[in-house]
Amino acid sequence: MKFVSTRGRAPSLSFADTVLTGLASDGGLYVPESLPHFSSKDIAAMAGMDYQRLAFEIIRPFVGEDLSERELRNIIERSYGLGQGQFRHRAVAPLVQTDTNEWILELFHGPTLAFKDFALQFLGQLFDHLLKKRGERVVVMGATSGDTGSAAIEGCRHCDNIDIFILHPHNRVSEVQRRQMTTVLSDNVFNIAMEGNFDDCQNMVKASFANQSFLPDGRRLVAVNSINWARIMAQIVYYFYAALRLGAPDKTVNFSVPTGNFGDIFAGYLAKQMGLPIDQLVIATNANDILHRCISDNDHTPKPLIHSLSPSMDIMVSSNFERLLFDLYGRDGAAVAELLADRSVPMHLSESALAQAQKTFSSYRVDDARTIEVIREQYLATGYLLDPHTAIGVEAARRVRRSAEQPMVCLSTAHPAKFPDAVAQALPQTEIPLPAHMQDLWQREERFKVLPNDLPQVHDYMATMLSEGH
Ligand SMILES: *Cc1c(COP(=O)(O)O)cnc(C)c1O
Repeated sequence: MKFVSTRGRAPSLSFADTVLTGLASDGGLYVPESLPHFSSKDIAAMAGMDYQRLAFEIIRPFVGEDLSERELRNIIERSYGLGQGQFRHRAVAPLVQTDTNEWILELFHGPTLAFKDFALQFLGQLFDHLLKKRGERVVVMGATSGDTGSAAIEGCRHCDNIDIFILHPHNRVSEVQRRQMTTVLSDNVFNIAMEGNFDDCQNMVKASFANQSFLPDGRRLVAVNSINWARIMAQIVYYFYAALRLGAPDKTVNFSVPTGNFGDIFAGYLAKQMGLPIDQLVIATNANDILHRCISDNDHTPKPLIHSLSPSMDIMVSSNFERLLFDLYGRDGAAVAELLADRSVPMHLSESALAQAQKTFSSYRVDDARTIEVIREQYLATGYLLDPHTAIGVEAARRVRRSAEQPMVCLSTAHPAKFPDAVAQALPQTEIPLPAHMQDLWQREERFKVLPNDLPQVHDYMATMLSEGH
């Protein structure tokens, strides 16, 4: 299978090159030239498959010649198996019923308690395999405000051909999030606590990608951010998995997704395009509501960032939205490039593009006050504890769902213990223990390097670490 850029001017690439490239050279994002399609009969035949088996069926058509069936099976087994540091639930992505026809898809049973493990466990294994075959060693570098960094570290910690450097803003991530990163003591994992804010970290990463001459011979930087195609692809699987358990392909199933960068919900959109019977996808946002404004009012004006109780959805512009735009504009890269050319003027979708988006997508915004109420109400009614991101998805689903008969699945993107502040505001009397395998998190040894917001010093540190015995 070939992959093309959403801006139409970069060379098309194989699966392996797409995964190792990240952003296309024309500034666009890579998408498959055409999507695999599963008939109702194909989907019916997937009923009853366990998660790993289903992942194999969904992912296989994308990888083409780049992986043998056996190689793909191994990568999937290592990503979603029940081993140390992997997924803790035999179902991998279990469903829990919260109302008559409403379900929670628990995506937080991976090593870092957030859904990003689904993408990053797979990406780490995939990278390592492809790099071994090529005899190459790379350096993963990324900035994090929380969830992505820990999931990337967990995904790469066992990879022989990767060194990973994650920058977080010193003293500005939650303690659970910091410890999830800094207590990983593998030789190939380097945490940098930068004296600055998240934007400073991101700028440092961008500048490093732009000029990689500081790296030792033959090394190059690879990105693991949510624009990486393999991350989206891995997320398609759980839409099929949940829908199959709720009666697909005979039944239509709908989803509500707490949304930030639009990667997770875009995977749901792809599942629909691939034949899964989905009628409605709900974009649930917090006060950072650019996507809600875009879908409801065709207003895509970026606004200053608001720090909310659901920090993993605090974004100004959603990078993966470009992949949807590419479809809405008839897969015309030139049209997408033109639409996005001048970021100083607000983007407006054409009437037909907006109408097409609204056929599938609905949207709703939930503020912090309501998020807290939803956590409290749900707990008092059913004893089920929602994390703040999930609470936003649940509330949005209840507000805008079109059909009471079709099952609504709300994606639970994080375990509530990961965001104790929000839960404490909702339920001051309630203890939320960390899951058993993380109970000693507060006792574990931490390792990180505090560095000033200074490019040469960060590069010196990286070069030194990379030449010491690696
Ligand atoms: C990353 C994240 C999101 C947002 O997902 P996108 O794919 O960026 O839309 C939602 N909830 C949690 C807990 C996350 O970590």
